[in-house]
Amino acid sequence: MASARIVDIRAFVLRGGGADYHDQSDGHWIDDNIATPMSRYPAYRKSRRSFGINALGTLVVEVEADDGTIGFAVTTGGEPAAYIVEKHLSRFVIGQKASDIELIWDQMYFATQYYGRKGLVVNAISGVDLALWDLLGRLRQEPVHAMIGGPVRDEIQFYATGARPDLAKEMGFIGGKMPLRYAPVEGNEGMNQAIADLAEMRERVGPDFWLMLDCWMALDLDYATRLAHAAAAHGLKWIEEAISPDDYWGYQSLKKAVPPGMLVTTGEHEATRWGFRMLLEMECCDIIQPDVGWCGGLTELLKISALADAHGKLVIPHGSSVYSYHFVVTRHNSPFAEFLMMAPKADEVVPMFSPQLQGEPVPQNGRIAASALDKPGFGVELDRSLDLARPYKP
Ligand SMILES: [Mg+2]
Repeated sequence: MASARIVDIRAFVLRGGGADYHDQSDGHWIDDNIATPMSRYPAYRKSRRSFGINALGTLVVEVEADDGTIGFAVTTGGEPAAYIVEKHLSRFVIGQKASDIELIWDQMYFATQYYGRKGLVVNAISGVDLALWDLLGRLRQEPVHAMIGGPVRDEIQFYATGARPDLAKEMGFIGGKMPLRYAPVEGNEGMNQAIADLAEMRERVGPDFWLMLDCWMALDLDYATRLAHAAAAHGLKWIEEAISPDDYWGYQSLKKAVPPGMLVTTGEHEATRWGFRMLLEMECCDIIQPDVGWCGGLTELLKISALADAHGKLVIPHGSSVYSYHFVVTRHNSPFAEFLMMAPKADEVVPMFSPQLQGEPVPQNGRIAASALDKPGFGVELDRSLDLARPYKP
């Protein structure tokens, strides 16, 4: 095992939900009148798919060792990420020892730095990195969590993201995060309606259940500040990704401007230790929310997490299913996790990356036992009955 070498890497594209969880059919809550930075354009107001939120699709990366063992991972990035994996990143993977994950990451990142650094390229790097961790776990017959320190608690507690926090409460989740449905372009009337919706949900869930608002980069500093103050009366726990992820200065101001006790969270569209260093050192937020499939993979998330810990901040990863769970269970500063409610009406628990992963654990009573993760690698299999397309070869 110690000498296992990687002999092949393959990149596939999949459509229809899964890691590209925005790639859903009509009528899904995740695409229903959610505020976005594109809300100012009437043609793109009602649906995020209308401006191409699902343009890329899922990237599947497979890595194969010389004994035939295969590791894989899924993330977003689709065909252009597949191109980057096959035509550029593959040279840093093939022929390497399966355990040389740190070396491979460093070469992938710095070889692409002239056109990468964030976004699509780092999604592709993340996909390769997660596939390498999966491969190493399968070679060692160990879960990924055991290779990064092991569980620090017996179970993971979840809050639910979706349109129905009231139903999430009944299902045992510790909180519910709703998408903001009114953008600044809808003026005071829109904000009043957003607050009325929050008040109604507070009425349904009672005083102690966590309620949060995910603003998906849709607001400006003034609007976000006014929204936060109006929402405080209804016990809003945090305001998420209120403004552009490029506006570190805006987040710094927002964090100072929100009512005492309300948390500012962001980071799902941030990447690498250097991006998160900006958020942490500029005191932009209370909780960082890296997505392990987008921020640079697990190798990078461990560095981001250590930096956050030293700053006294929590790391509550964005979505990303098993790829987050194996991390969260090993970190003291990740005391709970996000679960995306992917049922179209957010009225039942379904696997987050359905239909792509087999054996994907789901919360029961809002929890997943650490022991449910005790399988080699990330503990899931790729559903090979799906329409896997391989658009490029090296
Ligand atoms: Mg979010």
